[in-house]
Amino acid sequence: MSSEASAMVQPSGAPLHLFSDYHTHPQGHRVQKYTQGLLQPWADSARKAGLKDIAFTDHDRYHAGIDFDEIDRLRERNPDLRIRAGIELDNDPVHSAAGRKWVEQNWDKLDFVLGSVHFLDRADQMFDSVPDGAVQFEGRNIDAIYADYFRRVRDMAATGLVDCLAHLDLIKIHGHRSSAEVASLVNETLEFIQARNLAIELSTAGWRKPVNELYPSNSIIELAMEKEIPFTTASDAHSHVQLGENFSSLSDKISDLSIREICIFEKHRRVPQPLQL
Ligand SMILES: [Zn+2]
Ligand SMILES: [Zn+2]
Repeated sequence: MSSEASAMVQPSGAPLHLFSDYHTHPQGHRVQKYTQGLLQPWADSARKAGLKDIAFTDHDRYHAGIDFDEIDRLRERNPDLRIRAGIELDNDPVHSAAGRKWVEQNWDKLDFVLGSVHFLDRADQMFDSVPDGAVQFEGRNIDAIYADYFRRVRDMAATGLVDCLAHLDLIKIHGHRSSAEVASLVNETLEFIQARNLAIELSTAGWRKPVNELYPSNSIIELAMEKEIPFTTASDAHSHVQLGENFSSLSDKISDLSIREICIFEKHRRVPQPLQL
């Protein structure tokens, strides 16, 4: 074994240090103008959690609150952190047209765009609302819902406006399971993501939802690794105290699955980062 190869081997049991959180919502679920008062607690919490690199990815329907000058000021005030300007673009039938336009107009100021599917065939309710969204699965063919969901994920990947897909198997959120027949569709979706040269995230948010699992599942992560699709690490924090939530469990998972690097983004340029002990 070359010295380079041996350096890649992690001793078992040693925790990997995760240093980036690329899915955060400073505004929560309403428009709140970016100010130092809103953003500085996120920098403080990031530092406390041992994070060096965070991306703000508020929902596109709240894009009116995002202020790039305030992000610049925050960067100046916190030179020890890398703070990325981002957004989570979804398939909201009401708001996403305006969101896409905003992303196009501000592409050069953004470091990172997440793509998400939160809506199925109901325009008035995100299927991932807990617990209300579970009603969209009642009495329905779960395989058909999964197929519909993954088609929508591909549509989002095809927009050309995203760097990374968020919570790739969010459709499992309420604990509904597809049959094995949907596996080929998942594989096709990953092939599509690979062809588009996009990343996917490892999101601890699933651990605080009814399904109580990482997004995505081990089998999807393993398929993605075979296809050399890169990963970001993410909490989907809606409060600064959730930054890096459950990252020690995520670190264990990453070790178990032998993931050797995760990626960060700067002005949409993906930079692989080897994971350190
Ligand atoms: Zn989301
Ligand atoms: Zn989110």
